[in-house]
Amino acid sequence: MMSNPKLSNLISEKIGDGWIKNLDELRRIEPYADDPQFRAQWRQIKQANKSHLADYILRNNGIELNIDSLFDVQIKRIHEYKRQLLNVLHIIALYNRLKADPSQDILPRTFIFGGKAAPGYFMAKMVVKLINSVGDVVNNDPDVADRLKVVFMANYSVSSGQFAYPAADLSEQISTAGKEASGTGNMKFSMNGALTIGTLDGANVEIREEVGAENFFLFGLTAQEVMDKKASGYSPASYYQSNPELKQVIDQLASGFFSPKEPGLFMSIVDSLLHSDEYMLLADFQSYLDCQDRVSQAFRDQDNWTRMSILNVARMGKFSSDRTIAEYCRDIWKVEPMPVDLGAYSQEAAGLKVTKTPEMS
Ligand SMILES: *Cc1c(COP(=O)(O)O)cnc(C)c1O
Repeated sequence: MMSNPKLSNLISEKIGDGWIKNLDELRRIEPYADDPQFRAQWRQIKQANKSHLADYILRNNGIELNIDSLFDVQIKRIHEYKRQLLNVLHIIALYNRLKADPSQDILPRTFIFGGKAAPGYFMAKMVVKLINSVGDVVNNDPDVADRLKVVFMANYSVSSGQFAYPAADLSEQISTAGKEASGTGNMKFSMNGALTIGTLDGANVEIREEVGAENFFLFGLTAQEVMDKKASGYSPASYYQSNPELKQVIDQLASGFFSPKEPGLFMSIVDSLLHSDEYMLLADFQSYLDCQDRVSQAFRDQDNWTRMSILNVARMGKFSSDRTIAEYCRDIWKVEPMPVDLGAYSQEAAGLKVTKTPEMS
């Protein structure tokens, strides 16, 4: 409600405000997915939220965004298992496709990253550096114009996340299968009407079950396949050798294409990918690119995309923290509810009254 007041209000206009305390009631917006007028309102709100985030990014990054482009967002701690690097490999591949044929009709995309790297985590810091370096090349190339943009939001936090989640069209949940315990960012995105591109990992599994496989972009190895591949001797170099698009991307990292002043800068990333690739980026590369092509196709049909967006929100009731806590109370702690007098605080605590609105700074 605080982060996405426009969407909250639209939902309450249609189904009342019972969903605030009982999130399963979101189901009642499902029939409106077939209502063209409701879909138009839904789309308008997403555009307004994108415009709000674009203002924030213009002020903080000095980069102007095209709000009609697909906002492709990955915000979370920077970690190798979360595979921000796989996202970057896709951006470079798209850039190469455009350079090979600048006249081709690719779907305009804005890639937005945010997240902190732990101070001593060298590879994570290198990924942040790479995102910014790829952005410097892509954002300033006239062949690309406003078709591809790459933004790294500095100092990502709950306060900036508050603007990013409601503005996302696509939620990147691309961790190596078997590595993410649950994730909560995936839930925030889906509740705000973003569609997910993701692996069968953590809560992506349950989100996909709830929203329906047809409303979720799935790719990549399963946790079992990851284990089997490792057991039978995974060779990342063979993927590099046999996939020309992948080879071109890695060769550019190795040659200093994105770091002309310091050509060897990204060799640590190249060596890690070619010689161990613990998180199986090369094994999932083609599957990820193919899935991203399906995303681009789907986004061109705005009516159907909006339908899927509405169905994602309508079917996310299960991910209420109230439901989670109630189940813990019943099954784990075996405790009963009891009345607590919150006095004047109660209205605010229930989320029914917002006393402070977030500042953009
Ligand atoms: C939700 C959230 C996270 C967790 O994100 P995941 O995608 O689940 O890793 C981390 N940091 C902030 C600021 C968040 O709001």
